Amino acid sequence: MEVPLAINSSPYNGRPACARCRQCVGFACPVEAKNTSENTMLARAAATGNLSILLATRAERITTDAAGRVNGVDVIADHGGPGQRRTVMADDVVVAAGAVESARLLLASRSDREPNGLGNAHDQVGRHLQGHLYGGAIGIFDDEVNDLVGPGPSISTHEFRHGNDGLVGGGMLANEFVPTPLGTFGNLRQVGLITPHGLSAKQGMRHLLRRMQRVVGPVQEMTSAESRAQLDPSVVDCLGIPVARLSGRMQANDLAAQRLMGERAADWLRAAGATTVIAYGSNPANLVPSSGQHQAGTCRMGSDPATSVTDAYGRVWGHSNLRVVDGSLNVTNGGVNPVLTIFANAFRIMHAWVGSGRDYLEPTTTGL
Ligand code: SF4
Repeated sequence: MEVPLAINSSPYNGRPACARCRQCVGFACPVEAKNTSENTMLARAAATGNLSILLATRAERITTDAAGRVNGVDVIADHGGPGQRRTVMADDVVVAAGAVESARLLLASRSDREPNGLGNAHDQVGRHLQGHLYGGAIGIFDDEVNDLVGPGPSISTHEFRHGNDGLVGGGMLANEFVPTPLGTFGNLRQVGLITPHGLSAKQGMRHLLRRMQRVVGPVQEMTSAESRAQLDPSVVDCLGIPVARLSGRMQANDLAAQRLMGERAADWLRAAGATTVIAYGSNPANLVPSSGQHQAGTCRMGSDPATSVTDAYGRVWGHSNLRVVDGSLNVTNGGVNPVLTIFANAFRIMHAWVGSGRDYLEPTTTGL
């Protein structure tokens, strides 16, 4: 099946289709075909005239009144010097800072009523931190097979996401994004197919870059309450705000799923004609909590305040006017990239809040 990406495949809302350039992952899109907050929702919100953005400003703490009701956000200007603090009053507050930073903000928002942080009466904020361990394989072909036409993924299989013997979950596999030169070098180094430096490294890059193809995908991680983001008790950032401290580790099921994905990806590459195939694996001794790209799960939603942070509509337990709308809500990321689920869940929560009005979904007359 094709691979769903948050990229315009045809012109949409005044922005063009993907130009199929060679640099996609990790770079700004030269034609604005990638869909991101600033060229979709923020642009539409700005067009209403009702949006204010505080540049170079960080949220330090969500504030509450004497009755414990959320009533604003303490913010601090981050101009490189001593920060200027102020409070922005608000009837409703929506948090969407990513799993680590959303949890950090709630934990930092202590009050006499909630000394362990907002919505953290049951010590759930920050727990079940997860991301995505990746499984897959690298294949080297005798002929040049990589046309380096972006974005890259064009075919995928969901055959192994569920129903794998002895495993919970599984994952999606797809051919990989067009790699950057540095990414290619890292991939080849990781499996020992290129020397670390010197003329042989340059020759290896020249020969292998177009002959290399990767088939990879994220595996569904088993979540654990022990994998968590907490406030560090002694380390603060440049603004004096406690940094996040991550702890925990991935699980045996994650490694087993990674091995399975590697084997299936290797089958794919061999069937396609690769003459050298190497599956990726992780060292069980190095399994730190997974929290890089696709970070999720620290404010998971549920029906029981004792085991979750928000209700099914992203409302932090005990605070009907404080919502979380990012990947923190995910009980599990599943075995696919979570971005489209995060979008859909955010829209669902906003629909439930503001009713069925679709003003924020439809194109505006300015074409944004
Ligand atoms: S490949 Fe990626 S960066 Fe390049 S035009 Fe398409 S969406 Fe934009």
